[in-house]
Amino acid sequence: LAKTEVSPTFKKPTADHPIRICWNENPLGMSPKGQAAAREMIGQGNLYPFMEMKTLQKMLADKHGVAPECVLLSAGATQGIVAAFGALATPDTQLVIPELTFSAGEEAAIDNSMKKITKVKMTKDWQIDLEAMKKAVADYDGPSIVYFVNPNNPTGAICKADAVEAWIKSKPAKTMFLMDEAYAEFASDPTFRSVSPLIKDGADNIVLLKTFSKLFAMAGMRVGWSVSTPAIIKKMGEKIANNNLTGASVSAAIASMKDDKFMELSRASNEAARKILLQTLDALKLDYVPSNTNFVFHKLNVPLADYQKRMKDAGIWVGRAFPPADEYCRCSLGTPEQMAYVAQVMLDLGKKGLI
Ligand code: PLP
Repeated sequence: LAKTEVSPTFKKPTADHPIRICWNENPLGMSPKGQAAAREMIGQGNLYPFMEMKTLQKMLADKHGVAPECVLLSAGATQGIVAAFGALATPDTQLVIPELTFSAGEEAAIDNSMKKITKVKMTKDWQIDLEAMKKAVADYDGPSIVYFVNPNNPTGAICKADAVEAWIKSKPAKTMFLMDEAYAEFASDPTFRSVSPLIKDGADNIVLLKTFSKLFAMAGMRVGWSVSTPAIIKKMGEKIANNNLTGASVSAAIASMKDDKFMELSRASNEAARKILLQTLDALKLDYVPSNTNFVFHKLNVPLADYQKRMKDAGIWVGRAFPPADEYCRCSLGTPEQMAYVAQVMLDLGKKGLI
């Protein structure tokens, strides 16, 4: 595992080479096996990646225990979200989202002329208010799409699986659940579970959205996938281009899925980095939302814009504003060594009352 202290050889960040802890990227870089596979595929850049896409689709189908027709590959989960809304939205479909969540759902709803967007207030401690989400669906006569990010972004919080599954299994009329589990592999709370087994068991009201961007550190390669019924996956596929992925990206994904060691490293590195940041926040007496992701949503005692600027001056890019959580900063997790460095900067600002 990478160093958990700042070593003498650590290269301090600069304006040109900042520590990017603003976009929930994985700081490790792609699996070495994934990198090698991508490099090799570049030499075959003249060929369409038909076979590779089929192979990846089958591997993902096996992982979820479903048929290949239940899996759609996409250019990142973002394109999966676009495809899902394209397939399922009508102008009278209501979108139900927590007021603080990943923006792509709302953007896709607007692009599909969905007129009713219901944003459900968070609880006091920035959790998703499941009962209020349910009420928003129940109170609307027309169809609803629930875009549900679990664990959530930007809060990093999970919703308990028992409650989420009970709601989905109750099959609210004319309601589809788009379950975005981009960060699921980083969750350590035992009450979290993926909805994947529900789809395997035949649920027809779920689209599961997944990505290679986070655990697999492949955000720049743009590979995601969706899992649902064959009928929904077919409709979603009609909304995006065929052969939408590059051979290099798909080959990297295939190789990365076989690299158990990298997956373990990715999780362990994230845990170690998270521990350093949480210890620092505890030392600074700054509240935070318990994190089940590769970022932490924490309180500030100073305006975010001022803090962002001070961190930027130190070569560290932290997250943007997420209203209405105006006193909070979303800090993604770098490597443990980077976070040890970030901790020094944060503690230093703390001494000056600037965090
Ligand atoms: N879903 C969530 C919840 C995210 O936070 C993000 C990106 O940060 C994405 C999807 C986008 O993933 P991708 O890079 O696969 O498009």
